[in-house]
Amino acid sequence: MTGERLRLMAVHAHPDDESSKGAATTAMYAAQGVDVLVVTCTGGERGDVLNPQYGQVEGGIEGMRTVRFAEMARAAQALGVRQHWLGFVDSGLPEGDPLPPLPEGCFALQPLEVASAPLVELVREFRPHVMTTYDPSGGYPHPDHVMTHRVAYEAYHAAGDAERYRGHGDPWTPLKLYYNHGFSLARMRAMHDAIVAAGHESPFGDWIDSRQAREIPERTATTFVPCSDFFPQRDAALRAHATQIDPDGFFFAVPREIELAQWPTEEFELAHAHVPTHLPEDDLFAGVRGTVGA
Ligand SMILES: [Zn+2]
Repeated sequence: MTGERLRLMAVHAHPDDESSKGAATTAMYAAQGVDVLVVTCTGGERGDVLNPQYGQVEGGIEGMRTVRFAEMARAAQALGVRQHWLGFVDSGLPEGDPLPPLPEGCFALQPLEVASAPLVELVREFRPHVMTTYDPSGGYPHPDHVMTHRVAYEAYHAAGDAERYRGHGDPWTPLKLYYNHGFSLARMRAMHDAIVAAGHESPFGDWIDSRQAREIPERTATTFVPCSDFFPQRDAALRAHATQIDPDGFFFAVPREIELAQWPTEEFELAHAHVPTHLPEDDLFAGVRGTVGA
């Protein structure tokens, strides 16, 4: 097994999530020679155009899918990673009171086994040593993010069991599972305070208030990956999602020199490991490198 190439699979809900959650980490590992595969569960077809500088997208769901496929290809290129579509349809973010039902056939309405089978198959084919996804809350209250957690968790635990998902490839047991935690309250507060201290206007006050009001307990990051050299790649990948990311908006509101000084890492929570490791860590492959001899 000496010299086997390390493999990282990052499982996300929509095109653009890979660029806003753990993006610099994937770019860094890819640059180091790790085989990095981003998996996107849905096509993002029901996303609204969130960039006021972007025009209309014609053609409804099909039109939006076409645009977002092209954006995703540019983002993957910016990060230097490979990307795979799982092929499910975006559930949309339900809004209103009461909330409307989810659209028929969408990702979040699939039975768990149906939604997980293609990911189990992909895990058995790509054979990742490490997988990343979202925590059980989805990290963000979108039904596709919650479903992405469920599917990735299922695939991580089931792919190594020959008795499960028969006909979907030979068993493979990934060694570590992580949850993305880039939007911690601690990070947003640190950014907010530093922006204010530098005499700029912070856009994060409302975000921090609403995050606190949601009363979801903060989860604990275990793994702090120093990846600031790859923030420019992350920014290029974000900009590639031109329908979703306003270049003058939230994601670009922190002056980059402040970000570098305050928060040069991306955070993850180790959710499960088959290898021994000591927390906190600074490497998603801690405990794995010796095992696979890479
Ligand atoms: Zn998303």
